[in-house]
Amino acid sequence: MNSRDLQSTSPDEVEQMRAWRHAIHQHPELGFEETRTSALVAERLRAWGFDVITGIAATGVVGRLRWGQDESGLRLGLRADMDALPIEEATGLPWRSQSPGKMHACGHDGHTAMLLGAAQVLAKHVATGRLGPSGTLNLIFQPAEELGGGGGARRMIEEGLFDRFPCDAIFGMHNYPGMPTGRFYFRSGPFMASSDKVQIRFHGKGGHGAMPHLAVDPTLPAAATVLALQGIVARNIDPVKDTAVISVGRMAAGRTYNVIPETAELELSVRALDPEVRRQLQERIVAVVEGQAASYGVRAEIGYEHGYPVLVNSEAETRFAIEAARATFGADQVEGDALPLAGSEDFAFMLQKVPGCYLMIGNGDNGHDGGRPSGPCSVHNPHYDFNDHCLPLGAAFWAALATRFFSLYPRRKFQ
Ligand SMILES: [Zn+2]
Ligand SMILES: [Zn+2]
Repeated sequence: MNSRDLQSTSPDEVEQMRAWRHAIHQHPELGFEETRTSALVAERLRAWGFDVITGIAATGVVGRLRWGQDESGLRLGLRADMDALPIEEATGLPWRSQSPGKMHACGHDGHTAMLLGAAQVLAKHVATGRLGPSGTLNLIFQPAEELGGGGGARRMIEEGLFDRFPCDAIFGMHNYPGMPTGRFYFRSGPFMASSDKVQIRFHGKGGHGAMPHLAVDPTLPAAATVLALQGIVARNIDPVKDTAVISVGRMAAGRTYNVIPETAELELSVRALDPEVRRQLQERIVAVVEGQAASYGVRAEIGYEHGYPVLVNSEAETRFAIEAARATFGADQVEGDALPLAGSEDFAFMLQKVPGCYLMIGNGDNGHDGGRPSGPCSVHNPHYDFNDHCLPLGAAFWAALATRFFSLYPRRKFQ
């Protein structure tokens, strides 16, 4: 472990990060409602000399630090998400949510606090010349990561994020529950899955349960479709090379036992780790649904909502980030070829515009119950809490990455 970089976060600064994290945790805010969180972020960034732009994608904040006279300096984007989830917290921790039904159950409180910690350190580095003669640091505090396809990353881009704050590379970090605390995980190429939602409605003809021959029952094609859909993953997708998930999360029809309903509905979650597989899944799902509907004599209505795209880390930037982590924390703390995840992340939209890398930091077994540790716990669980031990490590990683990044100037090229 390179003590020089870790010393860049002092014990006082670690304590501050913990205080920000707990303050944000106590007042969780849902997507596009992060007014209190973004006010805290903006106030801190201004105090350290950043130009602060608020109101991008409603509650988004960008803190920009520019130094040197040379306009050709490198431009780095670091991103944290700020939103909470509609979950009732059950950790019993002293800093538990004060807002009923809302909770930081995905650790975005920690991501925000880590990037704030890094902001403080990097502002000092700029002042002391450690970040080189010229450059622009854009810290992107994004709202509404949890809101699916219409979430904060896409809206920030639509509102001109990268036109107003051009970046040569961007990086984002998420905690990784169940993995050793403070270990870093990277993967070049596809790292997280696309996430699409499909709504299907079969229109039949309702009738008396005793006289099925006078009705057209929509529950049969619905049931047959549930089974047939799994044939797509089993029979159409390369079992060695590719990954695909089709889950039926909702199946609904009728209200009582002796009435054949008019309609039956299915809702699917569809995931892939390759844009071509994603396209193939859509084509096959539509074909299967229409085929099942035709065979049972009903009409099918299909709503296909494209959510987050496949998150693809660019190779050079990923290698660069891995080297920064290895130099700072030692090779044994860094997994450079982590397995991809079936979860999704809207940073994928940003990576479609600018090369960069999304990475993970191990969050340990961080479940809590009655204020005490209760073992492994995934995100989006009422017992989850972000691990405060990650705060100085994540901030140190950001500081090390930025320091290395600006040392590339004037080459502008990753090695
Ligand atoms: Zn989440
Ligand atoms: Zn998250």
